[in-house]
Amino acid sequence: MIPTPLPPDFIPFNRPHLAGPELEYIRQAVAAGKLSGNGRFTQRCQQFFEQQYGMPKALLTTSGTDALEMAALLLNIQPGDEVIVPSYTFTSTANAFVLRGARIVFADSLPEHPNLDVSRLEALITPRTRAIVPVHYGGTACDMAAVMALAAQYSLWVVEDAAQAIEATYHNRPLGTFGHLAAFSFHETKNLSAGEGGLLAVNDPELATRAEIIWEKGTNRAAFARGEAARYEWVDVGSSFLPSELNAAYLWAQLENRQIIQRQRQRLWEAYESALTPLAAAGYFQLLPVAAEGQPNWHLFALLCRTEAERDALLAHLRAQHILAVFHYLPLHSSPYYTARHDGRLLPHATRFGQTLVRLPLYHDLQPEQQQRVVAAIQAFFQLPGSSCAVS
Ligand SMILES: *Cc1c(COP(=O)(O)O)cnc(C)c1O
Repeated sequence: MIPTPLPPDFIPFNRPHLAGPELEYIRQAVAAGKLSGNGRFTQRCQQFFEQQYGMPKALLTTSGTDALEMAALLLNIQPGDEVIVPSYTFTSTANAFVLRGARIVFADSLPEHPNLDVSRLEALITPRTRAIVPVHYGGTACDMAAVMALAAQYSLWVVEDAAQAIEATYHNRPLGTFGHLAAFSFHETKNLSAGEGGLLAVNDPELATRAEIIWEKGTNRAAFARGEAARYEWVDVGSSFLPSELNAAYLWAQLENRQIIQRQRQRLWEAYESALTPLAAAGYFQLLPVAAEGQPNWHLFALLCRTEAERDALLAHLRAQHILAVFHYLPLHSSPYYTARHDGRLLPHATRFGQTLVRLPLYHDLQPEQQQRVVAAIQAFFQLPGSSCAVS
């Protein structure tokens, strides 16, 4: 357990960062007299993505989860439809489609990285398959050329789960602009944050009009506000997906400062990499490979331990040193909710990442001496000179 109250030298796994103008922008939103959604800050954020990322339509949502749920509504996913999702991901990647009655067909990860193994995707496609949901784990790109080619061949939708992938690229194009739809997250733990928040990228222009209606609770309010509709009325299904202007104001400050935020993350990430590569080379653990075909976004720094017992011992060792490192997903195919629904295929790589992966503290205001303490604690655990800790 995390000790309470926290000791003064405690290093958390994550801490929210104020880039600077957040509180001023929130003040401006209040002063403007509009706190509900789709106001000035929401529009600034959406325009940023439409102009800088080239998305035909970008819609802010209350979370990445909501963006995925919007995608499932927009694609008319029906009971009995099949959706291919990696097992090593967050529940929302699958849940959004389960809520519409879909059956999830879980895909295994690559041997060396949690991203789905695209070379084994075709075998999972059946006549009932409607969509593929690649997750860019840690902001590292999936092989989108192969995913999109397969989707075109079988007439499937692609929804990128780009929740962790803001500012990362594949072949010099931002992740989240390849699939017909893509979901981003601005949860507190992501690179850019609104506390809670998300974005649905509508990359297929034919989906744009309906996306806006679903976003506005099934009404044509957005078109009406632009003077494009004579009456404001109920025209389709929908729900409440708009975030408040308070969240959008916070997010706008982060978007404006994204380069500073990303540079700091890169510095911290590279400091871990250079300090820990010798231990990885000595075989104590593995580091995740970085995609050759794109620029990462340094979302997380992970180690793969040799065994589950060693991983748990390392986490306990770090906790004893007042450092909170954490594991990540327990594979969804073997989760309490899905085990009985899963088709029984073994997914050994996803299982291994569930057992051995460790994420180290990585946040903007992590101080160099704190990072050195994390590195020293890991070195000590693996019994390097000067250490006193051992694992058998
Ligand atoms: C964070 C995350 C989500 C969910 O985003 P929220 O904004 O927390 O709802 C979905 N998928 C992945 C891969 C994530 O990392």
